[in-house]
Amino acid sequence: MSDRFVIWAPSIHSELAAKCGYCHGNKEENRDQLFALDSWAQQYVDELDAIEVNNCTMGSFVEHMDVATYDRLCNMGFRRSGKFLYKMDPLRNCCRLYTIRTTPQELVMSKELRKCVSRFVSRITDDGSRMAIVPGNDFVGKIVNAELNSTKFHTKFEPALYSDEKYQLFVKYQERVHQDFKNSPKSFKRFLCDTPFGPESILGTQESWDQLNNWQSMKPGEKLMHMGPVHECYYYEGKLIAITVSDILPSGISSVYFIWDPDYSKWSLGKLSALRDLAIIQKTNLKYYYLGYYIQDCPKMNYKASYGAEVLDVCCGKYIPLKHIENMISRGNLFVLGEEDADISKELYIVDSDNGKGSSFVTENGAKQMNIAEEVYGVDGCAFKSANESVLKLKELYSVPYEEEDSDTIYYQQGQHDQAPRGIPNVVPGLLPLWELLDFMESGKITDLEGRLFLFEVETDGIRPLTNFYSESPPVKRRICDAIRLFGFETCMKSVILYSEQM
Ligand SMILES: [Zn+2]
Repeated sequence: MSDRFVIWAPSIHSELAAKCGYCHGNKEENRDQLFALDSWAQQYVDELDAIEVNNCTMGSFVEHMDVATYDRLCNMGFRRSGKFLYKMDPLRNCCRLYTIRTTPQELVMSKELRKCVSRFVSRITDDGSRMAIVPGNDFVGKIVNAELNSTKFHTKFEPALYSDEKYQLFVKYQERVHQDFKNSPKSFKRFLCDTPFGPESILGTQESWDQLNNWQSMKPGEKLMHMGPVHECYYYEGKLIAITVSDILPSGISSVYFIWDPDYSKWSLGKLSALRDLAIIQKTNLKYYYLGYYIQDCPKMNYKASYGAEVLDVCCGKYIPLKHIENMISRGNLFVLGEEDADISKELYIVDSDNGKGSSFVTENGAKQMNIAEEVYGVDGCAFKSANESVLKLKELYSVPYEEEDSDTIYYQQGQHDQAPRGIPNVVPGLLPLWELLDFMESGKITDLEGRLFLFEVETDGIRPLTNFYSESPPVKRRICDAIRLFGFETCMKSVILYSEQM
């Protein structure tokens, strides 16, 4: 059972954009940027102030997940916070959050980053000149050499577990950098120690920690043994000055959080930690550095672009160099890639890209690619009609309780929020579209889940395998369908879905 994906039935949570940690619901005079697409903003142009745009998160609490599954889900736009696995609804949410990743090779060393490395080298070594043998642009070589020769600075990778020393630094950081005074050991644990991974990933082995703590000396091609959550503690002259919280995944390192001592603000520890993580990725023969979400119109988040990067299109699952689409997403817009071989979704497929209104760009290899977000998800987008057609059949033929949704109601007048449909909406970019779900019923593919997917009803405390999808109750069918739409069919083949009749 160690690769089981054990989740609570998925749900959507929406609250006022004022609660959004990025825009706080306030885009000032650019209120139209709260909308995912221009056609929606134009629809409401006369009543922009009266429309409620929310902060919409979808996801599940996860009781168990292996690192390979999380790696796949990260590349579908998910992130985790403690044990909560989530992604945003890019259509209804007030901000467009794009999964962003980079590689050591993609990094362009700006003057600022070069300065950060040379200052670090001179701070931690007695004889900075010894580093002159490393070529100017080789930031990995510079960091590695300096750390191997330093008697003042070292770091330690260790399990993501609580200690008083880490907690004290966390409090100092939260209070002085974020003016957050509501911290407790419990909140620290829930946020930065709790994970859905099994004990083998959390605790690792002595051998795997020894290898990771000597990452500077790993050989090209040598396989990294430790996969899972880590805390990397930075010590300077014996004092803990920073902690990176990360997940090491088969395809790379996913950055979760970074805590630093405000007394060391001159070190530019945030930049340094990104450069060190990229150096670690190169030396440990991993590939990608996942920096979380990128929001083009959020000054707090767009520094990530300076590491050279590509962003994920959640609809087709492909990454696109940020430089190609920067202009298209600069006003908080949704970007959806359309190209000739797009067969991921019928909604994408049925758009005739030659007639598209969307802007286009040409990639290095000469292929023309279109932004077809308006055609699919805009005011007259084809996704809504397609979803409603599927809803009727899902309901009548298979008793799966989806309800038709009026595309006009994806945004609400203030105070009318309780009229919003409950549950995950029928049209969400990046989720498996309803026509495809219907296809699973019609083709019988849904029966592949039988004997593989398990259901756990909390009230009866009973776990059972799914034996016949068609004979399940409508609410159970809906929960299974929502899990498939969110996490994908393959992931559901090894899932256990926990649910409560009351929920
Ligand atoms: Zn926002």
